[in-house]
Amino acid sequence: MKRLEGKNVLITGGSTGIGRATAIRFADEGANVAINYHSGEKEAEITLGEARQACSLAREKGCEGMLVQGDVSREEDVRRIFREVLDAWGRLDILINNAGIQTASPTHEMTADDYDRVLAVNLRGAFLCAREAVRHFLDRGGGGIILNNTSVHEIIPKPQYAPYAASKAGLGSLGRTLALEYAGEGIRVNTVAPGAIATPINKEWAEDPEKKALVEENIPMGRAGEVEEIAAVFAFLASDEAAYITGQTIYVDGGLTLYPGFRTPWS
Ligand code: NAD
Repeated sequence: MKRLEGKNVLITGGSTGIGRATAIRFADEGANVAINYHSGEKEAEITLGEARQACSLAREKGCEGMLVQGDVSREEDVRRIFREVLDAWGRLDILINNAGIQTASPTHEMTADDYDRVLAVNLRGAFLCAREAVRHFLDRGGGGIILNNTSVHEIIPKPQYAPYAASKAGLGSLGRTLALEYAGEGIRVNTVAPGAIATPINKEWAEDPEKKALVEENIPMGRAGEVEEIAAVFAFLASDEAAYITGQTIYVDGGLTLYPGFRTPWS
């Protein structure tokens, strides 16, 4: 029996990058996967197709898969997203708050609108989705799982990306707070904090070999991470193997949070 067989999971921003790999990994472990996407229906269809294929290999009777369009920063969209999933499947077991955006600008030149937009998607969106998930978990009883995607910038400052760093630090704290608040109700809340992964959000360096080499120079393990390496940790945290883990952030970063500047002793 697969670790996530028969579990219903909703992944926000699940059509590309880490979300896509996570959808495929969960399907591969036997889960029914609801993929939220904001724009780009074509990408979402491709991801759904790949997840269905992974699942048909994993489970004889196959799994369910569905797409749910919506902007996680909008309360009415989030309510609709959950309604669509619950109308279709009746229950949700796992929410993965994966959707995220970033915008680069020296902070003194950044507009308040740009700041607000990043916080709205990365932090408010995760709150809105977590709130709907908790309401459902409490209603049906039996607990549930919420997983958040932060970043090494949950703890590492990121000049010129102030709202991104602030949102990810906030999301780490939101996760720990919910973990404590609902531990008694059987709800586990954990966070995965990826390092540098070559995905659409990072096309600035991911598609430029010189810039990519510069990024990789700063990673103790000497390479960017793969989306599958992040998806694997989400799958572990969603499984019963992580039954006694809550309120934690697992950094999946090739050593990026180990103060790489200290690799060579200063004296
Ligand atoms: P990505 O750009 O492929 O994924 C982000 C997804 O979020 C996209 O599918 C996008 O459409 C979706 N999205 C954006 N706004 C949305 C909204 N309002 N509502 C719903 N969905 C929305 O890049 P990724 O690297 O796969 O990013 C996924 C998550 O991983 C993000 O939260 C990101 O901050 C985090 N992360 C990525 C890296 C990395 O190096 N790639 C590192 C640390 C953390």
